[in-house]
Amino acid sequence: MASTGNGSSSFSSPVRVAIRKNAIGNKTDPTWPYTVLLDVKSRRVKCKFCELIFTGPAYRMKHHLAGTGRDVSSCRMVPPDVKKAMQFLIGLDTIERRLVEMKRELVEMRNLF
Ligand SMILES: [Zn+2]
Repeated sequence: MASTGNGSSSFSSPVRVAIRKNAIGNKTDPTWPYTVLLDVKSRRVKCKFCELIFTGPAYRMKHHLAGTGRDVSSCRMVPPDVKKAMQFLIGLDTIERRLVEMKRELVEMRNLF
C-alpha cells in the first residue's frame, strides 16, 4: 500500500505582525538606539548616555533625552544633536495628538446633525 498525494497542502498561513506604536522594546522607536532594554515585563530601560534606569512607556525616554523635565529627569549626558532630534519628535507627537483630538471632535459634531 503506497499512499500518494501527500504534500499537496504545504502552504502556510500568513503571519500577521502587529507593531504597536510606542510599545516598549519596539525597535522602530526613535529612542531605541539610545536605550538598553533591561526587562520587557516590567518595562525597565536604561539610558545609554547617563545610565539612568527607569520604568515606563517609551515617551518618557524621549522626554528624558529631550530634557523637558516632564515625568522624568533630564539627561545630562545626551549629545546636543540627539537632544534636538528628541525635542523635534516630541513636537511631532503633540501635533499628531492634536490631529486625533480634532478628528474626534469633528465626528462628535457630525453626530449632532
Ligand atoms: Zn540619560
